Amino acid sequence: MNILEAKNIKKNFGGVVALSGASLTCHEGRITGLLGANGSGKSTLSKIIAGAYAPDAGEIVYLGKTVHYKNPYEAKRHGIGMVYQNLSLVPELTVWQNIVLGDERNHGYFLDDDSAREKSIHIIKKLWPKLNIEGRVYELTPGEMQVVEIAKAVSRNPKLLILDEPTAALEEAQVASLFKLMRELAATGVAIIFTSHRLWEVVEICDDLTIFRNGENVAEMDFSKDEKNLQKIIFYITGSQEEAGIAKTCAETCGDVRLSIRNLNLGATLKDISFDLKKGEILGIGGLAGQGQQELMLALAGNFRKVACEAEIDGQPIRLTKPSNAIKHGIMLVPGDRQLEGLFSAHSVFSNLIFPKIGLEKNFVIPHGKLRKECEQIVGILALKTAGLDVPVSTLSGGNQQKVVIGKWLGLETNVLLLSDPAKGIDIGAKNDLYSYIIGEARSKGMSVILYASDSKELIEYCDRLLIMYEGTVVSTLDTEEITEENIIRASMCIEDE
Ligand code: ADP
Ligand code: MG
Repeated sequence: MNILEAKNIKKNFGGVVALSGASLTCHEGRITGLLGANGSGKSTLSKIIAGAYAPDAGEIVYLGKTVHYKNPYEAKRHGIGMVYQNLSLVPELTVWQNIVLGDERNHGYFLDDDSAREKSIHIIKKLWPKLNIEGRVYELTPGEMQVVEIAKAVSRNPKLLILDEPTAALEEAQVASLFKLMRELAATGVAIIFTSHRLWEVVEICDDLTIFRNGENVAEMDFSKDEKNLQKIIFYITGSQEEAGIAKTCAETCGDVRLSIRNLNLGATLKDISFDLKKGEILGIGGLAGQGQQELMLALAGNFRKVACEAEIDGQPIRLTKPSNAIKHGIMLVPGDRQLEGLFSAHSVFSNLIFPKIGLEKNFVIPHGKLRKECEQIVGILALKTAGLDVPVSTLSGGNQQKVVIGKWLGLETNVLLLSDPAKGIDIGAKNDLYSYIIGEARSKGMSVILYASDSKELIEYCDRLLIMYEGTVVSTLDTEEITEENIIRASMCIEDE
């Protein structure tokens, strides 16, 4: 049975066409994947279904009736729940208070209801039992916050559950519990819409697939009949066959040592890390999630005053105890958590892009014209979809906002670029654009890169060498020809060769 049918939905925002005739059908007890490049209209359609936006044209048929929900509360009351791409939690409240917040069955604002607590415990147990429901949300990791957001939507027993990129912030184990819960919900008849940029996740969990390009449908698949063909899916998303990756020109073309790190230690977090990074080299950092990779990136960028390390850049000793030291020597970090660290969202794309560059200008005159040209180039390089340089960043889609955060750091005098999961949550087309730019800079200008990616496919494709971390230290180094999925898994889990 169809739970939902969205037919020929159109939506404009000022001059930007977000949806130009998009349709989506969801069936009882089935998980429908919604795929498409950044800016293709997935979140907009999801929000229209959830009552957050009104469509300009088209029809929403829910449980057999045409509906016009005026706001998310009305949609929620009728069983449509949505987990938004940007979190909507109240940081000062506890986990369980957030889960029940706004649920009318809790009689207004009085949240000291035991049954509300019970309900939160029940759902959190399934999703992430380690989470303390009495903890304040501001103390949580991004993954845990996402878990709370999901719990909040699920606790209202929706008939239609919309999950807009829920896994981008989750750790692997959290993704596994979410998938288990999604399966359980589907088994009780709930229809689920699932958006993610990780294709293999979508292929693994979904029963049906709808693909958008430029605000309209380009393909529908039903995996009970159609084969799960990744190449085909990529083709529909990008409109072109995926480039077969950029040929690895690899380490022998890399030059002298640019950055030498000896005995880097940071409390119990990082232990005795030593390596050399050559000019033009792309050095990967891999391993299981949470083995100190992000901390190593932060340490190299001078974020920990207590770090102990003998470091040299181009043969000169350098202290890694201050960010300004690192920046002075051209060591630039693109942070991993863009939601939290990245943007002034009320300000224009232009202001955000030029922000770090202004800080580095030696004289006080801001070369406006030159910076605008540079920004236009960055917009081109990253295929950033925006109505212009002067619109607020908040009007961009989630993925395009992430491109702005990355774009801020492009075009600076960079000797060592530290990339912490740069492609997380951005679509395949943008990912390719970004990496070809970075590899171009490395090969033509000798920029050195240290890349931490949670997706090992990116490490396999782009790195000249790969350091594998385990419990805060480097346990193995893989050379170009050794960087394979199997070797990465073995090294990450410290499995010895027979
Ligand atoms: P997706 O979720 O597929 O990445 P979105 O639905 O977020 O895409 O965005 C579709 C298009 O609509 C993008 O070009 C985006 O910039 C634009 N858009 C989305 N929301 C707004 C808004 N509130 N104001 C202006 N433009 C918007
Ligand atoms: Mg989106």
